[in-house]
Amino acid sequence: MSEKINPFKMAQQQFDEVAEQMGLEKAVRDMLRWPMRQFKFQLPVRMDDGSIKVFFGFRVQHNDARGPAKGGIRFAANETVDTVKALATWMTWKCAVADIPLGGGKGGAVVDPATLSTGEKERLCREWIDAVWKNLGPRNDVPAPDVGTTAQMMGWMMDEYSKLRGEYVPGVITGKPVGGGGSRGRTAATGFGVVVTIREAMKHLDIDPRGQTASIQGFGNVAQYAARTFIEMLGGKVICVSCWDNNDKTAYTYTKMDGIDPYFLQGITDEYGTINREEAESAGYLVEDGDAWLYKDVDVLIPAAVEGVITGENVENVSEEVKILAEGANGPTTLEADAVFKERGTFVIPDFLCNAGGVTCSYFEQVQNDMNYYWTEEEVLDKLDHNMAQAFNSVLETALEKGLYMRDAAYWVAIARVEKAMRLRGWV
Ligand code: GLU
Repeated sequence: MSEKINPFKMAQQQFDEVAEQMGLEKAVRDMLRWPMRQFKFQLPVRMDDGSIKVFFGFRVQHNDARGPAKGGIRFAANETVDTVKALATWMTWKCAVADIPLGGGKGGAVVDPATLSTGEKERLCREWIDAVWKNLGPRNDVPAPDVGTTAQMMGWMMDEYSKLRGEYVPGVITGKPVGGGGSRGRTAATGFGVVVTIREAMKHLDIDPRGQTASIQGFGNVAQYAARTFIEMLGGKVICVSCWDNNDKTAYTYTKMDGIDPYFLQGITDEYGTINREEAESAGYLVEDGDAWLYKDVDVLIPAAVEGVITGENVENVSEEVKILAEGANGPTTLEADAVFKERGTFVIPDFLCNAGGVTCSYFEQVQNDMNYYWTEEEVLDKLDHNMAQAFNSVLETALEKGLYMRDAAYWVAIARVEKAMRLRGWV
């Protein structure tokens, strides 16, 4: 994200605008503009060469009025406490809009995981838990994966926490591997949920989903499953994906006008999401500039990578053909770019609604951990479909009723639910 955009300021500004429209009481605003608690800690890790390297970690708990703080852990070289604060705030709105009984949190470490060996990664994960475990727990704060972290890492972290507690506590963290306390369907959940909201938006806009085209930014977990589901559930066509190449630290767009094959591309993608360029080219993919995905004449644009990618500078070149912007990523659209979409009348499915499938499935995972009884993938995805459609439609209803832009309506629904919980608990 460009240095000029501070994601936390952006999260506060989005909140302030809707809080003003709602006439929210000052004390409620003051509490919700800032995280309730934040932790910053050192992570000394023994490297394979015997030396000790010190990393920095964070955990931010934005609000837990509706239930334990909930949200992922990011391992990224450019992680900052302000990014984590913004993401924690968005988690509060995400859990509220999805109507699951959880609050908002987020964590991270400043590290490029691709530079670590498997053993170093495991030691970093265990260290992260050692630093902050007293503030975590199934009834306090429940982390999960995010950019740069994996199911295996969640497995190590759950193990470390359980060792410290002296008992098996699978519900302390979600996104664990299946067979190690994880839920079936969790890997697919975010991308699947993104497409459920697109399906509902198309119903509302009276668009036949068959043959609709999409362009996707990212080819990590969210993007891969969004691509598959867009094709399989809706009968649509994905014409390109854009992703980061870890080898030369550049982004490329992989385009195939008659439709990409997400299974083929997954097969030539490494664990950090880098697509093998030569293999893609020999299979007929056109390899373009990293930004090319944003300027395609498609029906649906799905940013599913990181925050701050659609900006005041590049939004003018987004095709007028785009009917739906489905934000699979957190915070992909800056305030300036958002104003342009609002003006144009593009139907926006805002991030914390669009990508709530991941955390909803995390909630299902916790429920299964508590029951010690596990559902089939079909059961999980059925429940997820139902929840996501309901979340979408409650926001749409508010948007139509109050004449609001979808993002503002999503904020309205979420803020009202959190405020209600705060009042019911006697906080304000
Ligand atoms: N990191 C994901 C998100 O941003 C999932 C969070 C979770 O499952 O707790 O929504």
